[in-house]
Amino acid sequence: MSGSIKFSVEYKKAFWKDKGFSGSIYSQSGLATEIYDHSNYEDTKFALKGFLNGSASHYTFEERKDKIIEQLKRYFGNEATEYISYNDKIWNDTFIQPNNDTFLPPHFNNGHAAFDESYMNNKLFFTGTETSKSFGGYMDGAIMASNAIADRISKIIKK
Ligand SMILES: Cc1cc2nc3c(=O)[nH]c(=O)nc-3n(C[C@H](O)[C@H](O)[C@H](O)COP(=O)(O)OP(=O)(O)OC[C@H]3O[C@@H](n4cnc5c(N)ncnc54)[C@H](O)[C@@H]3O)c2cc1C
Repeated sequence: MSGSIKFSVEYKKAFWKDKGFSGSIYSQSGLATEIYDHSNYEDTKFALKGFLNGSASHYTFEERKDKIIEQLKRYFGNEATEYISYNDKIWNDTFIQPNNDTFLPPHFNNGHAAFDESYMNNKLFFTGTETSKSFGGYMDGAIMASNAIADRISKIIKK
């Protein structure tokens, strides 16, 4: 996921829903390539969030913000400009891949057989989404791997 840039825009209300829109957008022309409604379950906080095209890292924060708000205005109308806050995170720019535009293939070599083993006489186990044979690299993989390791450990404890 090193090339990922995630953004969020907070609003006072989910004005897009009032207009009959879900808030989900897939774009091949705007800087934001995927957009989703990110309002909370309690319906007290409202936001749109999603992914930016990897090239967005070449813009300044202000330029990215302006382009995203303009894109949202195009889809959802003028209310898009009345946001509370805009935030984004370029994952490439910190400890993942500093100063490097090289593309790393995502979700590579997940579920390796080495992770099926336990080590140090059943005292050391490896888990996490990268150890999962299904949906490795995703939230589903993280949960499946954690459930599997919890089952294994509880069986060892019961013996
Ligand atoms: C930018 C980005 C976007 C993503 N988008 C999606 C998406 O839309 N859908 C999706 O399904 N998945 C997405 N993912 C992937 C998803 O977030 C991961 O697959 C999932 O969070 C992995 O869960 P995990 O429990 O395996 O590991 P993590 O969530 O990484 O948890 C590992 C934890 O261990 C802690 N830790 C590390 N070292 C130590 C230590 N020495 N001692 C104690 N604690 C330690 C870390 O702080 C961390 O809290 C995305 C990931 C990224 C980076």
